[in-house]
Amino acid sequence: MSESSSFQYSKPKRILLKLTGESFCPANQRGICMDSVNRLAEQIVKIAKTGVQIAVVMGGGNILRGAQFKATNGANSIKERTAHYMGMLATIMNGLALLDAIEALGQPARLASAVEADKVAEPYVSRRAIRHLEKGRVMILAGGTGSPFVTTDTAAAQRALELECDVILKATKVRGVYSADPEKDPDAQFYPELTFDEALGQKLGVMDFQAFAKCQGHNLPIMIFNFREDGNLERAVAGEVVGTIIHD
Ligand code: UDP
Repeated sequence: MSESSSFQYSKPKRILLKLTGESFCPANQRGICMDSVNRLAEQIVKIAKTGVQIAVVMGGGNILRGAQFKATNGANSIKERTAHYMGMLATIMNGLALLDAIEALGQPARLASAVEADKVAEPYVSRRAIRHLEKGRVMILAGGTGSPFVTTDTAAAQRALELECDVILKATKVRGVYSADPEKDPDAQFYPELTFDEALGQKLGVMDFQAFAKCQGHNLPIMIFNFREDGNLERAVAGEVVGTIIHD
């Protein structure tokens, strides 16, 4: 397979950027590092200034993922469902950090949450979010879907459909989709382009299954790219395939 995609992908007008919490700290660290957040904010503001409307679904994996507690369910540990709510709260903390970083660059932005947190975020209402986007505000979406046992990938697919985004840009720590984990297998093959069926058939685990099925059902393309490479986001919103594109 060639190293680049021939897929004709047109310049999007409205994007859903899915940021993993891991993009908020250096590799192999946890928590929120404002240097990392500021770097992402700079890229987001740069593309917002080109007129592209941006909704950001915030992950929380730099702080906590509920599934970590699956095996430890028991009297002396946190219940998995509780941990999922903690994960959703983590996304609100990340969202607040990103909001400050974006606003510090003079770019209007709003934070909305699917979990009630009215002292710090407005409630998520799709019509309201669309109004903000139309007014050129970066819309940060936290709290996931508001329900436990799924991840923010599901929230990304759900919000992208509700907000009529043209594409999901999923920022990850690797270049895109590979046949195996490239951090563990040096022979892993990189895929610049895949159909939904190919990704499913090969069990490539691009995102959680529910999220993937939603995108496939609505023919919503997903682009997976490396957030650590400066300029990738700009190139993606200019209509270039960076990383891997998955489409019908
Ligand atoms: N989460 C949840 N429901 C949602 C979204 C997220 O329960 O709709 C919880 C889940 O435990 C998840 C955690 O919040 O692991 C943090 O989100 P995620 O793992 O998606 O963060 P990322 O991997 O993108 O950093």
